[in-house]
Formats: sequence, C-alpha cells, structure tokens
Amino acid sequence: MRRPLARLFAWLSSFPTGWLVLVARHGARLPAGSLGWPAGLRGGLLLAAASAGLLAVAGRPRLRRPLAALTAGATLSAVGVASAAPAWPPPGWSMVVCDVGQGDGMVGSVGTGTAAVIDTGPDPGSIDRCLRALGVRRIPLLLLTHLHADHVEGVPGVLRGRVVDEAQTGPLDDPPDEHARVTGWLAAAGVALHRVSVGEQRSFGTADWTVLGPSAAFHGRPSDPNNSSVVLRLSLRGFTVLATGDVEWQAQRALLSAGTDVRADVLKVPHHVSDHQDPGFLDSVGAALAVTSVGRGNSYGHPSPVTLDRVRADGMRSYRTDDNGDVALVAGPRGITATARRGRGTPAAGPDNATPDQRLRASSSCGPAHRAGGQIAGSALGFVPAAGSGVAHPATQDRSARSGGGRAIRSTAAGGLSRLAADPGGAARAPPVPGRARPAVTTPRPADMGRLLPWSTPTC
Ligand SMILES: [Zn+2]
Repeated sequence: MRRPLARLFAWLSSFPTGWLVLVARHGARLPAGSLGWPAGLRGGLLLAAASAGLLAVAGRPRLRRPLAALTAGATLSAVGVASAAPAWPPPGWSMVVCDVGQGDGMVGSVGTGTAAVIDTGPDPGSIDRCLRALGVRRIPLLLLTHLHADHVEGVPGVLRGRVVDEAQTGPLDDPPDEHARVTGWLAAAGVALHRVSVGEQRSFGTADWTVLGPSAAFHGRPSDPNNSSVVLRLSLRGFTVLATGDVEWQAQRALLSAGTDVRADVLKVPHHVSDHQDPGFLDSVGAALAVTSVGRGNSYGHPSPVTLDRVRADGMRSYRTDDNGDVALVAGPRGITATARRGRGTPAAGPDNATPDQRLRASSSCGPAHRAGGQIAGSALGFVPAAGSGVAHPATQDRSARSGGGRAIRSTAAGGLSRLAADPGGAARAPPVPGRARPAVTTPRPADMGRLLPWSTPTC
C-alpha cells in the first residue's frame, strides 16, 4: 500500500516540477549551458546556503530591484556566452589535431566514441584532455609514427580509462630509452605493439588507411628517427589526410623517387613545419588544407616561415595548434570546415619550466622539455557548418574528378576568420581552391633546395 501511495504523490508532484526538468534538460544541451557544482554533501550545503541568502535578500523590498537587475544581467551574459561558445566537438567531426604543445597528436573518428589515434604528444595530460573532450573511449589502433618523446610520451594518457586494441610503430626502435618506455606502458596495459609494413591497409568503421612509407629504416644520420616516421594516407568521412610524422627531406624525396602517390586533401605538415622539407614533396601532396601541430614559443624555430610560405604558395589554408588550439575538420557536402577549440595554443616550455626528468629525456630523445604544462581547458571558439557540394569520399569518387569538382574550406571562430587563420596574412590570403588541378609529382627545384634544405640543427 505504501509504494502505490508514494507513486501517487510523486506523480502529483511531477506536474509543477516537470517543466523545470524539461527546461534544465534542454538548456544543458546548449553550448556552455551547464555550470559546474560540487557534488555530495558539500554541494547540497552550498546550494542550501545560496538559496537561504537569496530568500533573505528577496525579503527586503529595498534590495529587490538590484537583485532583479543582477539576475537579468547574469541571464543576458549567459545567453551571450552560450551563443558565442559553440559545441565541441563540432557535430560530424572527422579529424581533430589535438593541441599537445610541441609534439603531434591526431585523432581520426571511426565511429561513435571510437577513434584511431596517431601519435600522443609529449605528455599524458594533453592528449587525455583532447580525447576526453571528444568522447573517445575505444581506440582500435594507436599509431606511433616514430619514437621521439614529443610523439610518444603521451601514451599513458591515451591508455587512461580507454580500451586500446592494438598499437603500431615504424621500423626504427630509436631512441632506445623511449622504445623501452613505450613497450613498458603498452605491455602493462596488455596492448600488443606491431610494426607497420608499406602497402598495409587497415579499415576501421568509417575510416581506412594505407601505409605509404618508409620502406626501410634510415640509418647513419641524427635525423634517422624523424626520417623513419610512418607516412600514411587516411580516408576519413569526406576527405583524405596525409599523416607524415616528422619525415624530413630525405624521406620525402625517397617517397617521391619510389613513385608513391602522396596526394591528399589535407596535409599534416611534416616535422612541425620545420625548414627540413623537400618543396617538391609539399607541392606533390596537392592538399587544400594544411594542419600543423606545434608548441607556441618553442626553441626549435618551428614553424619555419620559409615552409609556411611554401605551404601558402601551394594554395593550402593553414591551421596551427599554437595559434588555434585544437583544430577539428568536418566534411560537408561542399567542403571542409575547420573549427578551433580555443584561440591560443599551448606554449612550448622553456628549460625553466621543464622537470629535471623532462630535461634529461629531452637531451637524448627530443623530449618534452620543449612543452610547457600550458592551458588545458578551453572553451569553444566557434564553428559554422559547411554547406554546398564538392568533397567526396575517395572510396566513391575518382580523385582527379574530385579535384576538378571544386572544394571549399570554411573556417570559423568566435573571434572571426582572422583569428582562426593561424598564419598572419597567409591563411586569410590563400583563397579556396575550387577547380584547382592537382599538381603532378615533381622533383625539387635547385633554387628551392638551396633555401629549404640541408642543415644539421637539432631535428626534434
Ligand atoms: Zn616531433
């Protein structure tokens, strides 16, 4: 008898309170529509105190008007914030370049809550933050392009609370100390580490990829780990991406010499946009959009203005994590929309704010001493859905036909296009490339080689 009576009272009380639940439920789905509040007894006591204070103020006629004005102001501000801060991640995202500071960390969506991860950045916190914001809980494949610390020290963050089915890496186990750390982390999590092989094709949900290189490890130079990076072309929902790790001009030329088709819609610019590039390689990708993962104020001089100029000259719109924070790409019927999560990316660390352990590893393995514990949280900057037609999935349409069919790229941010367009003048100047024919594979011009090539500077 007690339970039916309780149900009756609960049912009756649902009439006056139901609309509150309805408003709260729908309001919370809006961007910035919810406010953090402590849970448990502390939260309850805080709420009770706030309510009592409010009632006490409302009971005094002199204070009612100021209170009403304050409430109205707060409501208007909240509406303003909600409309200026779009949802993250943008609906239908295909790829996100995570702001991991000075390093690489990319996420390709393969289904709801599932993503392939390429590199992990230099610390666990940044990549974990990025994956959490994207709602990624399962990772069918974690690819480590090479074993420099700015690409693998975040492995524990990827493993944090997620299922990783398999990990892969390239042909060179160098530097050895990083190899040992990575294999230790993966083994502890029960994740097998395999080597990739050229030509290998994998398919996961809405994505597939092909390994393009390297055909063999590089030996005999300080930049061997970089040049031995795995290069692959991903086909995601709506566009293709060339993931390049830190390959430098030697590996880039090797790919071209082997006649490898490196064309893609989006280029992850190799090696944090250093000047160690083969211009012919950049030309040959023929991408419409370039993304760069780089830490603000790093000591390597990344990104190189010369390489940025080349990227712009090739007609690519350029987005950088040091300026844009996390960058998401969404394919629409008429183009790719780039959306930034926050306006300023994570700064790279100077020697002063690196831990002794980081400094030690950095000295031998291009480590995270060049990445600060910069901002972790950030609010969405903005996005506008792409509209129109043009980008088609490579599985369903011939690539040359696609390039002739016209593509458009839209970039959005609360601060406007100029804020998202990372390269001063560059991205804003670079026009969309409707109808641009893909360039033929070319060899570097001697003059370019002189400007961009040989060096013996640190190559992390
Ligand atoms: Zn790197």
